[in-house]
Amino acid sequence: MSGVTEAPPETSPDPTERIELLLRDLRGSPSGLTEREAARRLVATGPNELHRRGGRTWPGQLMRQFTHPLALLLWAAAGLAWAVGIEQVAIAIVVVIVINALFAFVQERHAERAVEALAAFLPVRAKVVRDGQVREIEATTLVPGDVLVIEEGDRISADARLIDGVVEVDLSALTGESVPVSRSAELLDTHVPLEQACELVFSGTTCTGGQARAIVFATGMRTELGRIAALSERVERDESPLEHQVRRVAWLIALISVVLGVAFIPIATFGAGLSFLNGVVFAVGLLVGNVPEGLLPVITLALAIGVRGLARRGAVVKRLSSVETLGCTDVICTDKTGTLTENRMRVTEVTGQGPRERLAGAMARCTNARGAGIGDPMEIALLDAAAGMGVELTPGEREAARLRQFPFDPARKRMSTVDQVGAVLRLAVKGAPESVIPLCTSEFGGGPMSPERRRELAAAVDAQARRGLRVLAVADRSLPEPPAGRDDAERDLTLLGLVGLVDPPRKEVARAVADCRAAGIRVIVITGDHGLTAAAIAHQVGIAGDTPRVVTGEELGAMSEAELDTLLTSGAELIFARSSPEAKLRIADALRATGHVVAMTGDGVNDAPALRRADIGVAMGRSGTDVAREASTMVLTDDNFATITAAVEAGRRVYDNIRKFIFYIFAHATPEVVPFLVFALSGGAVPLPLTVLLLLSFDVGTETVPALALGREPAEPGLMRKPPRRRGEPVIRGGMLIRAWLFLGVLCAALEMLGFFYVLTRAGWHPGADVGPGSPLHHAYLQATTMTFLGMVAGQVGTAFAARTERASLRSIGVWSNPLLLWGIVFELALAAAIIYVPFLQDLLGTAALTPDMLALVLPFPFIVWGADELRRWFVRWRARSPRTWGRSATDLARSRS
Ligand code: ADP
Ligand code: MG
Repeated sequence: MSGVTEAPPETSPDPTERIELLLRDLRGSPSGLTEREAARRLVATGPNELHRRGGRTWPGQLMRQFTHPLALLLWAAAGLAWAVGIEQVAIAIVVVIVINALFAFVQERHAERAVEALAAFLPVRAKVVRDGQVREIEATTLVPGDVLVIEEGDRISADARLIDGVVEVDLSALTGESVPVSRSAELLDTHVPLEQACELVFSGTTCTGGQARAIVFATGMRTELGRIAALSERVERDESPLEHQVRRVAWLIALISVVLGVAFIPIATFGAGLSFLNGVVFAVGLLVGNVPEGLLPVITLALAIGVRGLARRGAVVKRLSSVETLGCTDVICTDKTGTLTENRMRVTEVTGQGPRERLAGAMARCTNARGAGIGDPMEIALLDAAAGMGVELTPGEREAARLRQFPFDPARKRMSTVDQVGAVLRLAVKGAPESVIPLCTSEFGGGPMSPERRRELAAAVDAQARRGLRVLAVADRSLPEPPAGRDDAERDLTLLGLVGLVDPPRKEVARAVADCRAAGIRVIVITGDHGLTAAAIAHQVGIAGDTPRVVTGEELGAMSEAELDTLLTSGAELIFARSSPEAKLRIADALRATGHVVAMTGDGVNDAPALRRADIGVAMGRSGTDVAREASTMVLTDDNFATITAAVEAGRRVYDNIRKFIFYIFAHATPEVVPFLVFALSGGAVPLPLTVLLLLSFDVGTETVPALALGREPAEPGLMRKPPRRRGEPVIRGGMLIRAWLFLGVLCAALEMLGFFYVLTRAGWHPGADVGPGSPLHHAYLQATTMTFLGMVAGQVGTAFAARTERASLRSIGVWSNPLLLWGIVFELALAAAIIYVPFLQDLLGTAALTPDMLALVLPFPFIVWGADELRRWFVRWRARSPRTWGRSATDLARSRS
């Protein structure tokens, strides 16, 4: 490489010109760049990133908060108030709209930022040749001239021209066409559109097979993907079923409020002898008070915060709606290696009849691990063992001697290489014993393979597998000439030996599996490994007892769909071993068809279809391929099974918390409506217990902060001891509405009316007495409406505490364990105090200062409300504990469901 650096060319070179010319234009070479040169180029070209154009800007986003349908409804109410001449109420409604919009805006930004931060958890990597060695770097630091090493499962992060090798690429990100196409350095066709050129690969696509090297000619916005990104708007986020449901309910409530409001006008004017004007005022008040416009942003934020928490915990969820699905998961299909186990392998047993050098030589050659932690952990373990037996090869020596490779194929379950060993050409094979031994015709140091010897070997393999060891067979063969094809090469082998590897279970897994059992979630193991090995590991972590049903890939292949369905619904402990790549897809399909919500793990290119099909596709962030990562909805940054369980728990918790604040917000309705009903039903004999302005103050002042706080409640005890929620179960259910509207709602309304009548009657009021301005009772009336307001606030404080749990006692989660809620209540009380005692606000809202005895009357309200719900919860728990007398227990429910 020359020492002189010029700035790289501003315009991209023609990538389809002759390779020599392209290399010259890029001032690159097939042996790659130096780190230093790459760093210099990075400064000149900028990072390899896409800038989104046409994304949402904050003024636009803020505007939308004022123009969404529910806000428009409020605007209509304000317009109506203005039209009939009550400017004060119109202005108050506008204030409500503005406060709501600001809250919603802040929440949405917050949610968006939480989601955007996820990218940092999933850095894209690329393999390049730098300083003559293959290195893994962050894809953002790729520069033109870099030599990319592309292997099966890799994401391609820049536009590049192949130098050698053949790869299959999935171009769907670019063309939408999902059938992989072949790309090769040899094929050169200059008369086609760029993306069809056979020697080029593009950023954003993935490699589904093969191996190649390619020189980067465009990065960042200069790539084809960059061109597309510059054209297109950012994709809108999809609405989750939960948000969809809540939006519909919000509309339903808005509709009911409108109908109620419209019905109220004639009742008030004809029934209670009120002026038409006042009728309108109350109608508007009812409408504004009941429209749950703040609900959706709170839900979005709760989901986003859930997602952020999960990412920190090791599970990066790519869609907000997946958090919801996670909570309904009732089957987890998991890999064994790396997910249940550590994926830190160690060779503990080597059995073979002949001298060890040839076995060790095959182990050292038939591998792609680059040593010292780079590569497949099993291959690294084999390299270590080979070194222990005295054979050590550097990756360079190994590659120099290698003529050809038949890579590991999950269907064949073996790999082989053709290498020049001294003067002879030799094929080295390693793989599953069932795959390799049948190809062996003799045994090194033991002569031809007799049927009896085969049985002995099979028994030896079983014995090792039964102890949880992963067993590999290693074989070789000398070749007279380079082989024509794989099948031609992999025959007449000589068995060199068996290698047993331990891969201990992860220590957190047993706990997580126990959690799954308690939570009514089934765990099914699907592995390419030996059935006995899988059964031993499954037993060690508690997934299976002594005799799980082990279904091999062959057995599964012979099963009809109906048989598979029966097997899956039988409830037996299932292990799918020696499974073929298609097995996962079939199993995911069958489980979904029988109504289950499936989380399925995967790491290879072959797993991508199953990951897409499962409800929650879970990819391994460490050991998995980029292809699997892109096909998945959740990526485990620690590859750990326990993290899946934690994610399910988080999904359940977030969903429960959303129900908590929906409940809390709904509980407003009754206390808000009852004062108007009392007024209307008494035919005006009782003066209006609550003014519209106070209703609006209550509405904006109390709703949002406690609702946000409820969204962050810690998990309720017993969360993972109940069966999974059914998919599609409505978030707002009858029981919740009864608890909100008829139980706590009615209780709060009764308490607030008590306060109202207490103040009025003490001042000498009797039904029908005049309380209007100037009358002797007027001050008492102002105090009484203020009492109604304070009673409502006090009731809400009690409701907020009651809403924190659905079944558990508050003591079990701790009264002080949600500081945000405590602050919300402090804020609410401070606001109420200001409204009652600050003279300016008294004038504005028509309140009057309350005396200590009145305050003393309100003081127990929160405790009464909270205590009543505490009793209800105690009753619910007691009923669940004695299932025979009172109905079905959780386990009964779980059983009747499947
Ligand atoms: P798992 O479900 O445990 O990840 P795999 O599908 O990766 O299983 O592997 C299945 C079997 O294929 C293993 O039990 C092993 O016998 C064999 N195998 C796995 N990796 C390799 C490899 N790199 N070379 C040869 N054989 C392999
Ligand atoms: Mg594997």
